[in-house]
Parts: sequence; C-alpha cells; structure tokens
Amino acid sequence: MRQQLPKEIDPFRFANTGRELDGKVDLAEMPRLAESLRHTDGVVKVWMRFDIDDTGTPFMEGRFETTLSLTCERCLQEMTLPMEIDSLLGLVRHEKLAEKLSDQYEPWVVDDTELTDPVSVVEDELILALPLVPKHDEDCLPDEAKFSGDEEVEEKEAKPTSPFSVLSSLKTKK
Ligand SMILES: [Zn+2]
Repeated sequence: MRQQLPKEIDPFRFANTGRELDGKVDLAEMPRLAESLRHTDGVVKVWMRFDIDDTGTPFMEGRFETTLSLTCERCLQEMTLPMEIDSLLGLVRHEKLAEKLSDQYEPWVVDDTELTDPVSVVEDELILALPLVPKHDEDCLPDEAKFSGDEEVEEKEAKPTSPFSVLSSLKTKK
C-alpha cells in the first residue's frame, strides 16, 4: 500500500540513515507541472532511496511513474503520456558544489535552513522529462479517411457500426 509522501524531509539525514520512501502524490499537488497538463487527475507513484556512495557523496535514487494528460500540438486533442522516470540526484548544500558532483549525478541543492518538500523534486523531474512539443506518435490529424483506424475511438465496439452511428460519434468527438 502506498502512503502519501511526507511533506517535509531532511534529505541529508535520510542519506545518513539509508532511508527509503515509497508513496504517491496527486498530480493536483503540482501546480507548476499542471500548467502543461489538460487535467490533473491521477497520481505519481514515487520511490526514493537515500544513501551515501563509496566516495562519500549523499544521493537519492528515485523512480517516478505516472500518466500525464497533454495536448497534442498537431491535432489539439488529448494525448496521454505514460512516464517512467529514473533519477539519480547528488545532494549538495549549495549551487557551487554541484559542479563537484561526479557525472552520474544531477544536483539536488538542499537548503540548509529548512526541511525539503520531496514533492517539489518529483515535480521538477517530471517537468524536465516533458516533451518539448507533445505529439501523438501516429498521424493524428482529423481525417474521415483515417477514422476507422483511429486508436482512440476503438473502444471495444463489438457491434458493427452503421454509417449513422459513425457520423454521430464524429459529431460528439469534436
Ligand atoms: Zn494528435
């Protein structure tokens, strides 16, 4: 069972004690990401492991899974995008220390003075992984000739469709 993620953590302490987080976050809790989404229904499955590597660098290894609802820039219809992101972040106290991290790590700059909301890190990673120009994989422009092949429409209609029902579903689809 997945719990809601804690709102505040101390990542360095988590690394020292080798903690894991296994939880979920509602997409609705990520306002910056939401600007790119059609809706925020859904959750992100979050797994984070904190540890210290052989060189003494504290790090977070994470895996984030969700499905996002984006707008295809070609047909302007919804496209759902499943995402599975693996992150490896090195913990640093200051931006300036980020360049000392070994290449395998992206920096996670942790402010010394306050606890960190892990959700903001998950949100950052999802935003970084968004496609610059979201587009359906298939040629998706509305076109009656391609209608029968449209994957979004083939919602397991066992019955043969009459021309009239095709027309009516065309109308409701717009
Ligand atoms: Zn499209």
